Amino acid sequence: MLPIHPIAVPTPYPVGTVNAYVILSRPYTLIDTGPDIKEAGEALKKGVEPAGISLHEIERIVLTHSHLDHSGLIDWLSGFSKATLFIHPAELKKMVSDDPFQQRMQFVIKTGTPEDIIRQLIKWHGEFVFPVMPGKRIVELAGGEELRFDEGFLQVYHLPGHASGHLCFFDPAGGNFFSGDFLLPDITPNPVVEFDPDCPGKRLPTLSLYLEGLHKIDKMDIKTVWPGHGEAISDYHRVIATCLQHHRERANWIMELLRVNGEKNVYEISQLVFQGLTGHDVFLGLSEIQAHLDILAERELVKIRERGKVFYYSVAG
Ligand SMILES: [Zn+2]
Ligand SMILES: [Zn+2]
Repeated sequence: MLPIHPIAVPTPYPVGTVNAYVILSRPYTLIDTGPDIKEAGEALKKGVEPAGISLHEIERIVLTHSHLDHSGLIDWLSGFSKATLFIHPAELKKMVSDDPFQQRMQFVIKTGTPEDIIRQLIKWHGEFVFPVMPGKRIVELAGGEELRFDEGFLQVYHLPGHASGHLCFFDPAGGNFFSGDFLLPDITPNPVVEFDPDCPGKRLPTLSLYLEGLHKIDKMDIKTVWPGHGEAISDYHRVIATCLQHHRERANWIMELLRVNGEKNVYEISQLVFQGLTGHDVFLGLSEIQAHLDILAERELVKIRERGKVFYYSVAG
């Protein structure tokens, strides 16, 4: 069983703190880093002290995914530790290339989002800086690998849906599962719109992939889930059931809105479901609505009509 040392790291985001985890067995391993702000670095430094090690002794950093609340301190950490970074190639690509953002904007145009809001999204993206990657010290993980320690190992699980290269890590000896943002105690993770790397412009079926992953881990024998945000989860089957229920209700709500209001685009539906979203949350709102519409369209419950550059949805039949 691997010894776990959790550290709550502050973020400037509404989500509150993010959890970094140190595995206290050689090679000392850090799961997620926290965001690139001074307070987060200080929290990490102080946070490892009670474990009897210092940050420069970290030998391996594994990232659940590239979102900046989890990855932002990579650059800073690689400046003074010799740690090797382990990450899924899809997440690495998002950190070193601007293509995913360009594709996102193409998607946003098709949702019918007004131009002034699109301009805000672009401005917000410009303020959003990914950390510099630590050169050669990067190992790509696709899922299915084992990370070995003196006292055990972690199995690597590729669980897309919130992020296309999202990884989770499982210590079978202790029943401990590090879920990143894949499973959270109080929040339903957003099925963020992403694109097929082999087919530019084609959306990945993020919500279907996510639900598949939930069913997969529901069958596992996990004792404790250590999430990317919030407290450790002891009854994870209940959290999964709540999440599945949320998505069923959301799909029903969207169908009901279309029945009552007639044909709508993704932006209009997102405004009816989530009122008053601003900043990056606009994109997350669009993502969630689109993810549901993709499943509803697949099940032939809604039909799609293109007008100008925008796609409109209505109840089929
Ligand atoms: Zn995330
Ligand atoms: Zn997060």
